[in-house]
Amino acid sequence: MEEFYTIQGEGSHTGKAAYFIRIGGCDVGCHWCDVKESWNASLHPATNTDLIVNNVLKYANTVVVTGGEPLMWNLDYLTKKLKDNLINTHIETSGAYPLSGIWDWICLSPKKNKLPLTEVLEKAHELKVIVFNRHDFIFAEEQAAKVGGNCILYLQPEWSNREKMTPLIVEYVMKNPKWKISLQTHKYLHIP
Ligand code: SF4
Repeated sequence: MEEFYTIQGEGSHTGKAAYFIRIGGCDVGCHWCDVKESWNASLHPATNTDLIVNNVLKYANTVVVTGGEPLMWNLDYLTKKLKDNLINTHIETSGAYPLSGIWDWICLSPKKNKLPLTEVLEKAHELKVIVFNRHDFIFAEEQAAKVGGNCILYLQPEWSNREKMTPLIVEYVMKNPKWKISLQTHKYLHIP
């Protein structure tokens, strides 16, 4: 769908320069999704993977594969090529589809509409739950109970509701310090 070099705004790798590859197609259907234009994959013509890898090599040593839901596609070839070139491979996924690809960092952002598969929960390096309303704290705890012991736990306010939810997240994290706050810092910085 698009590729661009920017700064990772969220989660453990916040502040790092990274080349983003956004893959079209998602059927998870979050009502607050901020990339709804990604949902219909047929609107985004297929792009040659080798060309994308060549573009990465001009800019970055870290790639973030996102979407859409990137695991709707098999990512073995893309990530093999990236690893052959010593690129760090990160993915942002809802975990709703089987894991493919070779990953240095798996950010699992589970969604209530289409729950993550056990294999993704077990391999996630960070769990990033988007908090749109109070029930999302309950959902976050349910998902945290299913990830591995070393998985880093993040609560991130949904952007359109951040004024309301951020104070609640601050209070929640202070009471439940196994969680950390993740903010969409790229949006505060006005970068992609
Ligand atoms: S999983 Fe991501 S891309 Fe898909 S609808 Fe939800 S927020 Fe949007």
